[in-house]
Amino acid sequence: MTTYKARRTPVQKGTAAWSAILPGQPAPVPLNGDTTADVAIVGGGFAGLSAARHLRLLDPSLRVVVLEAGRLAEGASGRNSGFMIDLPHELTSDDYAGHGDDRTMIALNRKAIAFAGAAVEAYGIDRNFFDPAGKINGAASETADALNRSYGQHLDGLGEANELLDAKAMADVTGSRHYLSGIYTPGTVMLQPAGYIRGLGEGLRRDGVRVCEQTPVTAITRQGAGWQVATATGRVSAGRVILANNGHLESFGFAANRLMHVFLYASMTVDLDAATLAKLGGQPRWGVTPSDPMGTTMRRIDTGQGGNRIITRTCATFEPGMEPAEATLKRTARVHRAKFADRFPHLRGVAMEYSWAGHLCLTKNAVSFARPLDEGLYAAAVCNGLGTTRSTLTGMAAAELALGKTSDVTAHFLGETLPAKLPPEPFSTIGANAYLRWKEWRAGKE
Ligand SMILES: Cc1cc2nc3c(=O)[nH]c(=O)nc-3n(C[C@H](O)[C@H](O)[C@H](O)COP(=O)(O)OP(=O)(O)OC[C@H]3O[C@@H](n4cnc5c(N)ncnc54)[C@H](O)[C@@H]3O)c2cc1C
Repeated sequence: MTTYKARRTPVQKGTAAWSAILPGQPAPVPLNGDTTADVAIVGGGFAGLSAARHLRLLDPSLRVVVLEAGRLAEGASGRNSGFMIDLPHELTSDDYAGHGDDRTMIALNRKAIAFAGAAVEAYGIDRNFFDPAGKINGAASETADALNRSYGQHLDGLGEANELLDAKAMADVTGSRHYLSGIYTPGTVMLQPAGYIRGLGEGLRRDGVRVCEQTPVTAITRQGAGWQVATATGRVSAGRVILANNGHLESFGFAANRLMHVFLYASMTVDLDAATLAKLGGQPRWGVTPSDPMGTTMRRIDTGQGGNRIITRTCATFEPGMEPAEATLKRTARVHRAKFADRFPHLRGVAMEYSWAGHLCLTKNAVSFARPLDEGLYAAAVCNGLGTTRSTLTGMAAAELALGKTSDVTAHFLGETLPAKLPPEPFSTIGANAYLRWKEWRAGKE
């Protein structure tokens, strides 16, 4: 009998701030006892919830159960910076340039954004949590400024709208004099990621999808033509199963030594008072990605999104054990305070209320993993760092594959090669962490 056992289940480090700044959620409802479903989905992030919605759109009669190890919006899907980006944004490249056909990737990313926008509409999700405001790629050095200009030309070539901002325009938007220039692109949707994910979960529940929280899946065992999905509090017998658990795909024995478990770190300030806001200046909402992918992402949110706060995201570590050390959280929180101070010297004394880590899953060759794993078992995994769009797409692809359907989304993922093998341990960890620290150092002021 085929059984895939989970070697480990997720451990989260630091508060899931985006969820903590929203009003409290109702108590979690774990799976309780045995049940049956047409499709069981493991993981309730962008991939899992998108898969659930897509399944029900394709066939409203399907009985769908989502099993999430923690609370909704407290895994990586609620721990990110909330940039739902339409343009190529390849974290493993030096300047985000895509490894493949940019036009195809842009079209797919926009399909994911349209899918999310339709869910926002259908489920009545607060518009503050899905703000089509665009974003800025900020440059703090001459080198980065040159990169931004060549990126602008590349976008011109693709017929993509973009606007170069000078240092004054950047200060007018952000209240910071740190940036020499920026390039604004209008197609990014700025999410309140926890608000969006919770809204998806609530909408799915209202639609009849069973979404169980605090229900880590421990094993998946072949049962007749389908599968039995085991948890500590009950079992689901399902015809088909989708593993939408990102890097924890490997915990079930798939893609071993091919997935890079990278943790990113962020900190969020306290809610800024009126006097601090007056000193800050700038606009009430903006998002700045660094022109070097290993630089620092900054974001300002306002009361509609959980308070007047600034979020600083930087530092990455390679963690094959999928659990960063407390000391790493402390170190990265110190870096966040320093990066914040560089950008906002006039806000000295503003405290960080939350610091946290979140799990990304990358592959060396930048491919995702959305394909059949076994009969009736599908993966919607490997976000490659841009899971707000990519994982929405992997979820859509797995839903279609589970129903025997095909589209440009399934064609894209089935057309990708398999994730490349990583060097053996300990070389992988030592090499990757040395490389990440070097890239961080090289990103300098960015
Ligand atoms: C600090 C930070 C900033 C980021 N910024 C951005 C950004 O601005 N834009 C962007 O696009 N991306 C960003 N990302 C990446 C983005 O968060 C991820 O790509 C995205 O969350 C991936 O979604 P997913 O659904 O594939 O995986 P996840 O969000 O990891 O969801 C998988 C879920 O599976 C659950 N799970 C795992 N194992 C089991 C099990 N055995 N049983 C039950 N459930 C299980 C987990 O608890 C988890 O909730 C950022 C990430 C971090 C950490």
